[in-house]
Amino acid sequence: MDVRVGELVLHEDEGAGKENGHQENGRKEPRYATIAAQAGFCQEGNAFSGTKHGKAIFTASVYEFETLEELRASTYSYRRLGNPNSDDLAHALACLESAESGLATSSGMGAVVATVLGLLKGGDTVFVHGDTYGGTFSFFEQDVRRFGIHVEMLDVMDVLQLDSALARWHHQHQQQLEGRNDDVRALVFCESITNPLIRVADVPGMSAVCRKHGALLVVDNTFGTPLRRKPLLQGANIVVHSATKFIGGHSDLIAGAVVGPAKLVDRARGVAHRWGLTISPFDAWLCTRSIRTLQVRMERAWVTAERLAERVAAEERAVVRVHAAPQCAVFSFEVAGGAEGASRVFDKLSLIKIAPSLGGVTTTVSHPATSSHVSLGAAERARLGIPDGLIRISVGVEDVEDLAHDLLPAVRAAVCHV
Ligand SMILES: *Cc1c(COP(=O)(O)O)cnc(C)c1O
Repeated sequence: MDVRVGELVLHEDEGAGKENGHQENGRKEPRYATIAAQAGFCQEGNAFSGTKHGKAIFTASVYEFETLEELRASTYSYRRLGNPNSDDLAHALACLESAESGLATSSGMGAVVATVLGLLKGGDTVFVHGDTYGGTFSFFEQDVRRFGIHVEMLDVMDVLQLDSALARWHHQHQQQLEGRNDDVRALVFCESITNPLIRVADVPGMSAVCRKHGALLVVDNTFGTPLRRKPLLQGANIVVHSATKFIGGHSDLIAGAVVGPAKLVDRARGVAHRWGLTISPFDAWLCTRSIRTLQVRMERAWVTAERLAERVAAEERAVVRVHAAPQCAVFSFEVAGGAEGASRVFDKLSLIKIAPSLGGVTTTVSHPATSSHVSLGAAERARLGIPDGLIRISVGVEDVEDLAHDLLPAVRAAVCHV
C-alpha cells in the first residue's frame, strides 16, 4: 500500500531482505558492508588474485601454455570465456546478494539478454510490465518476439493481475505441463523499483504467485542496489543488474551482472560466452573497486534524496506530485505546466546537469518523456502515468544544501511565466 504524506507518495518499502552477519558453525559471516568494502579481495586460492591492495588488470585475450595438460588444468584460456577481473566482480556481487553464483556482463542489457535468452525458447512466454527500462522494453518488443517467445505486457507488479495472467497461461499449457520436464516455460520479469515512477515491487507476493503457477521470477535490481534489496532472499529466482549505475557509481564504466543459483546463472553464462557479452577487464576492475565505496555512497545519497524529495513536495504551487521510496537515490516529480514547465526547470538549473542516465556520485536530472521513455509514444506514456511535466532526479553525494539551493528555485520557475 502507498502512503501519502501531503503530496509526497511514499511507496511502501517491501524489499529490505534479511541482514546477514549471523553465526554459522561457530564462524561469523561478515555483514554486507564488510563484504562490499573488501570486494575483490576475498577469492582465496586464486593464482591470479594478486596482492591485496594492488590487484592486477588482466588484459590478455589469450594465455600461453607449455603443455596440453597445463591448458586443460587452467581456469582461464581465452578472455571471452573467462577473466580474473570479471570473476572478481561476479563473485563480489554474488556475495552481496547471497547468491550461489554470479556472472559479470558487458552491460546491464548484456545481463538482461543473457538471462532471458538463456532461460527461454520459442513457444515460452514472458510476462513483463510496460514501464521497464527503455532498452529492456525494446529488447522484448523487437528481439524476444522474433524468436517465437510470447511477450505479454501487463502490470506484473499488481499481484492479482499477475495471478490471473499466470492462471490463464497455466490453463492453456495444462497438457504440456503434465508431462513436465525441467524446462522453463514462463518467466516474469520486473524491476525491484521502477523508473521513473519509483514503484516498489512486492517480490515476496510476486514470487509466491510465480511458484504457484510454475513460473520463474527475474528481478532487475538496478534501482534497489544489492545493498538495500535482496530479491533472491525474497523468492526471486534470478537477479540482473546494470552495474553502470549505482554499483559503478562514477559514470565512467559500463557493466552488468546476473546472480542466482548456479543452475540458472550457468544458462545465462552460456549465452554470454557464445554471444560475446563479456565485460572488459578494465571495466570489471573499476567496477569491483567501486563496490568498496558502495555503502557510503548509497547511505549519503539515500538520505539526501529523502530530504530533497520532502522539500520538492513542499513546493505546492509548482509541484503536482512526487514519486519517492525510502532508500532509493532516484525520485521523480511532476511540475505544473507540462513540458513547458519542465523546460523552465531544466533551464534554471545550473549546478545540477541534465544527463540521460543515473546512479553516479554527481546529481543529475532527466526528462523521461523525451529520453528514457520517448519510444513509448505519448498515448502509452499517458496510460502508464508518465506525464510531460515529469522530471527524474538521480541524487549523488554533493552537499544537500547546495543541491537544494539549485533545485528549489528551479522547481518554482515551472510556474513563473516571465
Ligand atoms: C540502465 C539500465 C539498464 C541497462 O543497463 P546498461 O548498463 O545501460 O546496459 C537495465 N535496467 C535498468 C533498470 C537500468 O536503469
